[in-house]
Amino acid sequence: MKSVMDKKLRLYLHIPFCVRKCKYCDFVSFAGKEEQFEAYVDSLCNEIRVRGEVYKDREISSIYIGGGTPSILPEDLLERIVNALNQSFHISGTKEKRKGFHLQKKIRPVTEFSIECNPGTVDKKKLKAYKKMGINRISFGLQTSDPEGLKALGRIHSFDDFIESFESAREAGFDNINVDLMQAIPEQTLSGWQRTLALLTTWKPEHISAYSLIVEKGTPFYEMQQKGQLSLPDEDTEREIYYYTKEFLEKCGYRRYEISNYAIPGFECRHNIGYWKRDDYLGLGLNSSSMVDNLRWKNTEDLSDYTEVFSNPFSEADFFRGDNALLKPEETGRQDVPVSTIIKDVHLLSHKEQMEESMFLGLRMTEGISKQDFFDTFRQDFDYTYGETVLKLKEKGLLKEEEGRVFLTDKGVDISNTVLAEFLLDQ
Ligand code: SF4
Repeated sequence: MKSVMDKKLRLYLHIPFCVRKCKYCDFVSFAGKEEQFEAYVDSLCNEIRVRGEVYKDREISSIYIGGGTPSILPEDLLERIVNALNQSFHISGTKEKRKGFHLQKKIRPVTEFSIECNPGTVDKKKLKAYKKMGINRISFGLQTSDPEGLKALGRIHSFDDFIESFESAREAGFDNINVDLMQAIPEQTLSGWQRTLALLTTWKPEHISAYSLIVEKGTPFYEMQQKGQLSLPDEDTEREIYYYTKEFLEKCGYRRYEISNYAIPGFECRHNIGYWKRDDYLGLGLNSSSMVDNLRWKNTEDLSDYTEVFSNPFSEADFFRGDNALLKPEETGRQDVPVSTIIKDVHLLSHKEQMEESMFLGLRMTEGISKQDFFDTFRQDFDYTYGETVLKLKEKGLLKEEEGRVFLTDKGVDISNTVLAEFLLDQ
């Protein structure tokens, strides 16, 4: 029988502060709120303690500090967060272990612990401090090497800033570094993109994410687009960029393991794979999302509400059953989920929704879906559930099936949103 410790949990922590807002950004993040850093971190630590009590029997399999720009925080504030995590959760370990006086053979860290950093917001001292805290993976947001592109996006850094930060991370001992790139940005051409990839790969990051820009409502880019002032590459250029990326990065030793993610084998992001495989995850901090045992919920995006609710340390009992009526268990039928002013969108996924979601997410990965795993998880035959859909998509050359696994073809990746929509089940 599985012990509770076998039930893994992934943690996401949100730091909602940035130096300046990028022109395309619709994330919950604020610029110019330095005076709120400390209060927010204190509240986050209190939330960590409360939630840690609830999930003390779960083993933490990965931690991801994202934002915003987490690296904007001074080291001492970040250290408070990491200390609270270590005191509150069962973290398997993030460093090589010593046994007696003998250093054990170096193994990959048990718990992947990532932090997002923007170039120009870290230096060697800060990165060394991260390393000491047990952080073992850095994710840099570069987006492009092209100065015009960086300016158009409203980024705060230059390519030289990136190189400096990247080198500092290597010197601080980080051997697992991701770099985020962005495709389909204003005025981007195939040759400009080729330059970015050629430059970046000389620095040999272990992991590269390459997402396409999406113009979101409420951003300066959206306004510009409405006024006809945003010149984006056409669909053909976007496709060329996509195919070139896969081909070029494969030649450089990277493997595409998800629609937009490439890694040197062995350095795939375990935290994100957890999302695509629907592992349980707990979001901590402003606007963070959680899914535990198929129950979803989200923290508020109101910074003052969040900071105020968690401003005082209180016990698990206060939070879940206390006089402050933060919990109404009858609303969820579950005892472990707080329902309060700061929690929203609570939803228990039905069996059908779980199956659909496993297809949408699982098919994003190049290894696709294992029919056996599907049966083991849902106790429902894969072919009985999706046989017809798969057959139809295979005939159109959008899906492939090999050795009991179903996955997207290149053509399927091209129109992945349309393909994935086919996996919605009838009522
Ligand atoms: S750094 Fe990231 S989170 Fe901050 S404004 Fe830019 S895109 Fe948004």
